[in-house]
Amino acid sequence: VAALRLVLGDQLSFELSALDGLDPTRDRVLLAEVAEEAGHVPHHPQKIIFLFSAMRHFAEALRKRGITVDYVTLDDPANSGSLAGELARFAAWYRPDEIHVTEAGDWRVEQALKSSGLSITWHADRRFLCSRTGFAGWASGKRQLRMEFFYREMRRQTGLLLNPDGTPEGGVWNLDTDNRKPLPRGLHGPITLRFAADETTRAVQALVSAHFAHHYGCLDGFDYPVTHAEAEQLWLHFLDFGLAAFGDYQDAMASGEPFLFHARVGAALNVGLLDLRRLCDDVDAAYRQGRVGLNAAEGFIRQLIGWREYVRGIYWLQMPDYAQRNALGNSRPLPEFYWTGQTRMNCMRQVIGQTLEHAYAHHIQRLMVTGNFALLAGIAPPALCDWYLAVYMDAFDWVELPNVLGMVLHADGGYLGSKPYCASGQYIKRMSNYCQDCSYKVRESTTDDACPFNALYWHFLMRHREQLQGNPRMSMVYRNLARMEGSKQQALWERGESLLARLDAEDAL
Ligand code: SF4
Repeated sequence: VAALRLVLGDQLSFELSALDGLDPTRDRVLLAEVAEEAGHVPHHPQKIIFLFSAMRHFAEALRKRGITVDYVTLDDPANSGSLAGELARFAAWYRPDEIHVTEAGDWRVEQALKSSGLSITWHADRRFLCSRTGFAGWASGKRQLRMEFFYREMRRQTGLLLNPDGTPEGGVWNLDTDNRKPLPRGLHGPITLRFAADETTRAVQALVSAHFAHHYGCLDGFDYPVTHAEAEQLWLHFLDFGLAAFGDYQDAMASGEPFLFHARVGAALNVGLLDLRRLCDDVDAAYRQGRVGLNAAEGFIRQLIGWREYVRGIYWLQMPDYAQRNALGNSRPLPEFYWTGQTRMNCMRQVIGQTLEHAYAHHIQRLMVTGNFALLAGIAPPALCDWYLAVYMDAFDWVELPNVLGMVLHADGGYLGSKPYCASGQYIKRMSNYCQDCSYKVRESTTDDACPFNALYWHFLMRHREQLQGNPRMSMVYRNLARMEGSKQQALWERGESLLARLDAEDAL
């Protein structure tokens, strides 16, 4: 064997750099389902189904192209259980002249392979627009990083939504303020495209049922795309039926509407079934053809070439120390209801419920409902990070850790984002209809039936006053707090204390 080429489960792209120069007559490609990756956090069963099925389909597609593939299933008796173990096993067997691997998404996986003692030729991951070294160069010498400036740089580099003179289309770089409309009564998201399980997926479902049924999340109802062709269909469906309204209602939430106008392509993109540049070009073209408004096109492209590339850059710049950050000193365990959805708070019940059912919630649900509650309640960062990593179909460490630790929990002290995304129940009321069916009253703050987010919001501000009140973006809320009567402040503090004590007593609220 001339070269052994390892393809990780989130690298299912025919253009993967580890496959560059592949000689089908002498090289072999290795893919392995390993217990270490499936079980290092209790991944949602549908996420394991998605990954294993997509891997199996990709292996088959490579074989159809005449490439020799070694595929190790989870239940293969010879399976060592780890990626490094499998690579070493096949390397000892074939004694290849070279081993090629594309850099891993996760720091932990890359370290394990680097510690294996094998001589590996590493390749940059071209699926991202900004390389690790490119991001380090951009960040170098900056005291504070801000997504907005990185994003403008990426717009200039790619030419997306850019005028010939280098100015942004529409005269402004960022239309975030036009992405915040609540959902009008009676408006529903488009019909969801669902993909039926084929024989390969059914075999994986049986395997996951046998090995991972104890993980939280529904085993049944899996409908994600597992091939490049299916992912393409999902993408075209979004372009036709979702994108135009995505801009206006990007931040909206509604009971019984798990997807609204969101593309739901994050999982397919993150494992290589879709190509980033192609998605952005399609959205740019849809805008230029007059099919969608600028706030839809810019809002979507910002998520991909702005936030997604930015958090990946920060991850590789800051790991492994980043995972240890805990600037607010949080230590509370994650409440059990994050795993079951059994709470009287309707917003939490809706978001966690759809997460268990579909392994999906959109960005604002993750940031401003489950994330916001964890921030206000002072949940320990590792516990919350593991939860997000486990329950979401599209969650991989490089994207989940900065989003949760940095953006949700402000645990990096403001390195990634300029302020904590803390909000009272008023935000959730404005952006959703969740409060209408809640047993708590969103207008109340200190009564027994008052919305827990309200008192916890003020309690959070009071207990972190020293750290946060000097932040210019927090000055208005601290001025509001200062103007509040002492007795009101005292009542909010006491209600907050009592809610936190109930959490500590494992009351689901
Ligand atoms: Fe959530 Fe509070 Fe609204 Fe209930 S009242 S749905 S807990 S924000």
